[in-house]
Amino acid sequence: DNKSNVRAEFLDYYSKKQFPLCMRHIHQVLRSTHHLKYRCRLQYGLFLKGLGLSLEECLKVWRDEFTKTMDENTFEKKYAYGVKHQHGKVGGMVNYKPYSCMTIIMGNVGPGEHHGCPFKHFDATQLRQKLVEDGIPGTDTDEIMTLVKDAHYQIACTKYFELTHHKQSKSVINHPNQYFDESDEILNV
Ligand code: SF4
Repeated sequence: DNKSNVRAEFLDYYSKKQFPLCMRHIHQVLRSTHHLKYRCRLQYGLFLKGLGLSLEECLKVWRDEFTKTMDENTFEKKYAYGVKHQHGKVGGMVNYKPYSCMTIIMGNVGPGEHHGCPFKHFDATQLRQKLVEDGIPGTDTDEIMTLVKDAHYQIACTKYFELTHHKQSKSVINHPNQYFDESDEILNV
């Protein structure tokens, strides 16, 4: 699934238009804090790999941000290995797959961590605020909040997809990379 034309330099654009809320949130945190914690790096790094970014491009994404607060040497020593590992280039050479929604939803998110699924892991006030920021009308926001309350996180995400793309989704969102691909089909025909 290497069909997108995403390049590292266009991530800001894509993250706003075509990323699901989980990945958009992580991207914003990366840009604003120049750092992500371990499990966040895994969730986002594997998603980027799933978009078709090469190892070199992924290294560039991380290096460009992390070296705003540390020197290149520290980045290479502490963080580059993990990126290569995600691409199966070092260690056990496993070709890790991007996480599905279910894996992300079932994971634990501790204080100060930003991975996870916003529909599951954000508190109600934070989620509502995010939906309002994204221009979701009030009645639709209420509907999404009800779905979330009833633990229908992926259906809430699908509703969010449909509202932001003005089109029905082909099926319930079950993978962040599926979200991106469906978005790409609608927006980049
Ligand atoms: Fe991301 Fe899946 Fe949650 Fe949507 S339902 S925000 S794609 S984890």
